[in-house]
Order: sequence, then structure tokens, then C-alpha cells
Amino acid sequence: MPPPVLVIGLDCAPPALVFDRLAHRLPNLSALRRRGAWGPLRSVAPPITVPAWACMVSGRAPGELGLYGFRNRVRDAYGMQTASTTEHPRVWDLASEAGKKVCVLYVPLTSPPPRVNGVAVSGFLGTAEPFTHPPELGAVLESRFGPHAPDVETFRTDDIDGLLDELYETSRRRFAVGRALYREERPDLTMMVEMGTDRLHHALWRHLDPSHPEHDPQDPRIRDAQDYYAYLDGEVGAWIDEARDANILVVSDHGARSMLGGICINEWLRRRGWLVLADQPSQPGPLRLDAIDWSQTRAWGAGGYYGRIFLNVAGREPHGIVADYAETRSALIAELEADPLLRASARRPRDLYRETRGFPPDLLVFFGDLDYRSLGTVGGDVFVREDDRGPDGCNHDWHGIFIGAGPGFTRTEELTDLGIHDVGATVLDLLGLPVPADWLGSRAGS
Ligand SMILES: [Zn+2]
Repeated sequence: MPPPVLVIGLDCAPPALVFDRLAHRLPNLSALRRRGAWGPLRSVAPPITVPAWACMVSGRAPGELGLYGFRNRVRDAYGMQTASTTEHPRVWDLASEAGKKVCVLYVPLTSPPPRVNGVAVSGFLGTAEPFTHPPELGAVLESRFGPHAPDVETFRTDDIDGLLDELYETSRRRFAVGRALYREERPDLTMMVEMGTDRLHHALWRHLDPSHPEHDPQDPRIRDAQDYYAYLDGEVGAWIDEARDANILVVSDHGARSMLGGICINEWLRRRGWLVLADQPSQPGPLRLDAIDWSQTRAWGAGGYYGRIFLNVAGREPHGIVADYAETRSALIAELEADPLLRASARRPRDLYRETRGFPPDLLVFFGDLDYRSLGTVGGDVFVREDDRGPDGCNHDWHGIFIGAGPGFTRTEELTDLGIHDVGATVLDLLGLPVPADWLGSRAGS
């Protein structure tokens, strides 16, 4: 029997913090790194929680999963709907089929919970009931540890003390659930994701990144932000102590970097005649689909960590007018990339993915190599300093972290070419299971 595998996910944890700037405050993660293989972990495009975790555990790219963000287009309409899980097997499904016992905890996009050979508790995005597999486990966990809380209520807030209280409270609960189930269930594969790191970054990033334009080295919040990381390191360390025989992976789905501004993509499209509104907005506000004059609109966009642009294609959209799709798209790419304000890289889905399912954007646009966020706002400036959804100093970055240690890791050194799909392949290999031929990624650290 191969040793158990324990995967602890720290959403959004970047290499610059974990391996460098905060390493002295993270003795357990640093010790794990010294006895293992580690390095920056290249995320998917786009580097967003959904689809990144789902890609990590399924061997698939976002295009194959049809997941281009939290919300995705639907056929025969202009609107979007919240992402839900897809049928592609995850590492825990393959492990279950092979008779392994698994424990899947708070992994994003596991609502409803997967029906594994073992136990599962749903993670971020989705409120399906029951939130556990088996269903009766939920009430047991809530009576022992408190209410089910895969995430904080809100993180784009000015109430930083309240957010910190909630972060500690909910993280303690999640780690208590994780360690208890690990001890009691004795799974072959355990995977838990902690969302708190991502939430901390969005609220307090300027205190964690000395290069942020609003960083103040005297600000007491620096200590608060670092303390939460140190607290999580203690939780991870306590779990590692109980899992001495296991192969342990600590990973993140993407990294973090300072948000230096936002590009109001719909305002840009409007000013250049790609998007036409029935009434001119009197003040900045979100783009309302019912305010668009579709008979004159060739393109519109959506906000997020990157810009998604859709063409209003004749025969595809309900009121489509674009007949020469390829030419129109090429013209828009050229116009986007020629505007120095945007620092845009506009990619066709086929440039990024070997296959596309669902309803991909016609263009995926990265502004300033992720220095800038995409905002859906119309009626104001094209370039703005702040997010339109509340205070937030953090953007996502291309690289997360990978640390792997235990009997299965014969290489104990920094690895410089790791990709997010290597995590899934490594987990299967550590469990003694074959990696399916069509999976992306390969075994790391052996
Ligand atoms: Zn994330």
C-alpha cells in the first residue's frame, strides 16, 4: 500500500510570499520545503479559482472543462450563469474507482459534493444541499465544529477587524474538520482547500507587498496580515505532525500581485463604436444588457481578472449583426493591442486551449499582464484606479506554489518548470494509479 496522500491548498498563495518574504514567519512550510521538492506553479489561463482548481484535479484545460471564469455564457441568450461542476473525472473519482478511500474538503467547485468512496464537504461557489457526502455527515460536522463555512461572507469590505475575526474563526473550523476526518477516516487521499489566503490578499494585499503604491511600512495592518499567514502555517504544521507517514503537497491555484488599476472594457468598446447603448449613461455604472442597442453593437465585454469579449455574431446571438466573424475579430485584436493605455494581450480561445467546450469568449484579453483588472463599467473613464466592486488591492498572478514532501519525493530541490496539471498527475502517481493518457501534466519531484 502506498503511503497516504495529503493535499493542502492555500488559495492564491504566491511564491514571493511563501518562499521568500514571509518564509521566516512560516517555519512549518519552510521546513516542509527543505525536505521536499518545491517551486512556483504555473496556473492556467485565466488564473482564477474557477477554473484553476478544477483544472488541477482533472488534467484538463479550462477550454476542455468549458469553464472560463465564475460565470459563463449560455446558448441563445446574452447573459451568463454561475459555473457548476463538470462531468470530467477528478483525481478523487479515479481514486474512488480504484477502491481508494478519499476525503475531499472545501475544494472550489464541489457543490453538490462528489459521491466519492469516502467523505466530501462542498467548497466555494454553490450552495447545494446537502453539502456533504454522505448527506448525514453535514449535521454531524456542524454539531461538532460549528456551521458549515467554506468561505467568508464578504471580503471587499472596509471592516478589516470583522473580516480578520471571520477568517480566523472559519479557518479554525475548516482545519479542525480536516484534521478530525483525516484522523478518523484514515483516507488514502485527502484534499482540503483553504480560501482564507485569497480573501486576506484581496483585503490587505497592499500591506503584504512593499511594491504596492499604497504600501506604508509603518502600518500596523502589516503585522495583522502576516499573523494570519503565520497562524495558517501553524495549522498546516499541526496536520503535518499527524501525517508523518504521508506524502504531503501544499499547493495554490494561482498567485497574487498588486492591482494597479482597471480597464473599463465596455467604455473602451463604446467610445470606439463597437458597443452602442440605447441611452448614454449619465454616470459610471455597470453595463446593463437591456440598455444595449444590439442592432448596432458588434462587441461587448465582461469584467474580472481578465477581459472577456464577445462578438454579436449573426446567427449565433439573438440579435447578431457580425457576419464576417474572423475578420472582425482580427480587427478588434489589432485595435485592442494597439492602444498603449490597455497594455492588452488579446487571445483567441484556440490560441490557449486544445479544445473548447461550452461557450468560450471570442477573445480573452489580459491587461498589463494582469497588473490591471477588467471592469464592466460604462459611463466613466476607460482607465480607473479602483475596482468597481469595493476596496481590493490584489490581482491574481500567473504562478502559485508547489511543495511536495514525503517518501514519494526523491528530488529535494527547487523545481522551476512546474505546471498546475502536474499536481493531479503527481497525486495519482503517489497513490500508485496510472495517469490517464489524455491528462495534461506529469509527475513532479521523482
Ligand atoms: Zn483562487
